[in-house]
Amino acid sequence: MASKRQIFVRDVPIGGGAPVAVQTMCKTETANLEATMEQIRTVAEAGADLVRVAVPRDKDVEALKTIVKQSPIPVIADIHFNHTLALKAIDAGADCIRLNPGNIGGPEKVAEVAERATKANVPMRIGVNSGSLPKHLHELERENPVEALVQAAVEFVELMERLDFENFKVSIKSTNVPNTIASNRLLAEKIPYPIHLGITEAGTNWSGSLKSSVGLGTLLADGIGDTIRISLSTFHAEEEVKVAWEILKALQLRERGPVLIACPTCGRLQFDMDTVVAEIEQRLEAYPEPVEVAVLGCAVNGIGEASHADFGITGAKDEGLIFAHGKPLRKVKQGELVDALFAEIDKSLDRGKVQLDEAKSREGADWLAKIEEENAGELTPERIAQMEAEASNKEPDPFLQPVTGGKRLGLDEDASPTASRRFTRA
Ligand code: SF4
Repeated sequence: MASKRQIFVRDVPIGGGAPVAVQTMCKTETANLEATMEQIRTVAEAGADLVRVAVPRDKDVEALKTIVKQSPIPVIADIHFNHTLALKAIDAGADCIRLNPGNIGGPEKVAEVAERATKANVPMRIGVNSGSLPKHLHELERENPVEALVQAAVEFVELMERLDFENFKVSIKSTNVPNTIASNRLLAEKIPYPIHLGITEAGTNWSGSLKSSVGLGTLLADGIGDTIRISLSTFHAEEEVKVAWEILKALQLRERGPVLIACPTCGRLQFDMDTVVAEIEQRLEAYPEPVEVAVLGCAVNGIGEASHADFGITGAKDEGLIFAHGKPLRKVKQGELVDALFAEIDKSLDRGKVQLDEAKSREGADWLAKIEEENAGELTPERIAQMEAEASNKEPDPFLQPVTGGKRLGLDEDASPTASRRFTRA
């Protein structure tokens, strides 16, 4: 249920079935050109499709003129209370203007901005925030905050339509997750325009990411939302971008870079998973390819549920195994597991496929079989799940399976042609 309408922010399509666009907002003072450009380049590198900058003063407009020329991604000017700044931002070359028609000084001022935006072919994001609804909706807000948010947004949409301006997306933002979900669901039924999703003042990296994942993830899973911004209390805007991508990747809406799968660990753990997973996650950040890497804390279950992964590691005693698509590649000392894993990944990416060394693979398979045999009676979480699945005489529930990005690199024994590398953005 993507929006029917589509707009373009510079060259980025929003809505109308386009991939959900990731955006963030610079934390720098916009007038500080050097710091702002550095942050824009960092967030673009992290995968932001769009970036917003605050424009509260004339000196920010001055900087904006250079920023829009140098930015590798479209720049949205964030304007509040001052419609003159919106006009100046359009003249400065902003790729989009964000404003709240309720705080810009009345419909005449909104009309002036709409006219200038039409001439410059600049889209707008019009938005309402809980906490800044028009006065006539305050009573409704007390009785039914969701209805009040939606009504405010619909009134703004109607105002823009009366002004013959339809080049916009709409946002309803609230600090309240259930209200954000309910109001955006209702709004999506009422308007055909693209929808920007976000949770206002979500919180720190930890709590804000969770709130945003629940709120935005629920809506995106319903097919609602055309662009997202994760608001986190951190100076590092790229953290917002990373969280946005994880949400989109988890829902398989977009693909970017590797997917890491790791078992939750338990008392059978055979190596220092915390350190190993953190190192793998950090080293994978350098890879644009959508490789899927699994980390299993012990080899007691064999490769089992990780057999779909492009690559994986597991360990037992002081040794470990590297595997690919369920096949052992080679056994290594535990201390060498991570380096050896990345050596295999690099080699395979260079070749475009995973190459098996028969002798090493057999040695790894024998080692794994021995571990499995030694632990045949263990009731591991994975074996209990398997037994339950067999008992109910059906396949394990697909919703309980790890999310997979599919196989990217074929084994060289496959009859299929070499899998091509896939890079970055969907
Ligand atoms: S039994 Fe399963 S959860 Fe426990 S360490 Fe081994 S792979 Fe991880």
